[in-house]
Amino acid sequence: MTTTNGSNQKVYNTIVVGSGPAGLTAAIYAARGNLEPLVIEGYQAGGQLMLTSEVENFPGFRDGIMGPELMMQMRAQAERFGAEFITKNVTQVDLSGPSKKVWVDDDLYLAKTVIVSTGASANLLGLANESRLMGRGVSTCATCDGFFFRNKVIAVVGGGDSAMEEANFLSRFASKLYIIHRREGFRASAIMLERAQNNPKIEFVLNTVVTDVLGEEIVEGVRLKNTQTGQESDLKLDGVFVAIGHTPNTKLFAGQITRDDKGYILTSNDKSHVTASNLPGVFACGDVQDSRYRQAITAAGSGCAAALDAEHYLENLTDSEPAAVALGTV
Ligand code: NAP
Repeated sequence: MTTTNGSNQKVYNTIVVGSGPAGLTAAIYAARGNLEPLVIEGYQAGGQLMLTSEVENFPGFRDGIMGPELMMQMRAQAERFGAEFITKNVTQVDLSGPSKKVWVDDDLYLAKTVIVSTGASANLLGLANESRLMGRGVSTCATCDGFFFRNKVIAVVGGGDSAMEEANFLSRFASKLYIIHRREGFRASAIMLERAQNNPKIEFVLNTVVTDVLGEEIVEGVRLKNTQTGQESDLKLDGVFVAIGHTPNTKLFAGQITRDDKGYILTSNDKSHVTASNLPGVFACGDVQDSRYRQAITAAGSGCAAALDAEHYLENLTDSEPAAVALGTV
């Protein structure tokens, strides 16, 4: 049951910020737990799965499911149990006190707990045709899309651990793989680099940047430029995996929620509330706090944990804090 404050403004039990697999799973569990959550889903609702085509590794869908369809199903499931949605971006937050303040432009929403699930965005090269052909040969997730490139020629862009890991993974499917990296030195750890260097399917193209992605309907190749000679060339390909890092969407929370040096939200090591942030009543789940696994199913799992942590926190609120609510079973 939701309460009101002294000024008769509604105080939500929980506001979920973000609507990828983590946020929507948190919303489903919170709604089924009678917390009547408000989900501020953002203008670009649904998270990174909205950018993918077929998802074949989300359990429960034997024949796969399109990313956007999966997200629509999750949203409808949360709505079915009473989650309320606002399709706008959160513009400001004040999460310090027991009454959490969340603004959407001039509108202020109050809550006893906040679940942050704003995700992370894969960094892109910034080329117009890269965005246009996303999901049609351009990908940012080898685990998600590698299977579609059986016996194909593909390239991975980047020189970090992600690029090496993705290239090694993709070599299970591809007939030939290029790692295109803008310089000669690597950020990747020695062992990951060595594994890629010893992989007979992988060829390194160094001191080289991708200046365009070629193809009308699907990727047919990339245009390359050697950074030392300035020479341009075209490379025929069936797919391009961009693996140049991720940026967690946490600017909104800077100065309030503790983050690591890359901006990921730091969550508790205490197994009794693994999604707790440094602020009481504020929880984080999904890619916004996970730079390692970054899978829809791991994000969904941590969304479930965040809802359970929020519910537990609400159950233990003292009388001096906002009134505890009648809680159902999650
Ligand atoms: P990263 O370490 O930041 O590497 C990003 C790579 O992309 C760098 O080689 C960088 O080149 C390149 N790059 C960045 N912007 C670019 C651009 N605009 N155009 C072309 N190239 C660009 O990111 P990551 O590989 O995703 O790794 C992130 C973290 O996760 C790291 O700490 C990593 O160790 C960890 N990780 C670990 C594992 C594992 O242990 N199994 C697997 C994956 C990731 P420069 O080097 O020239 O800057």
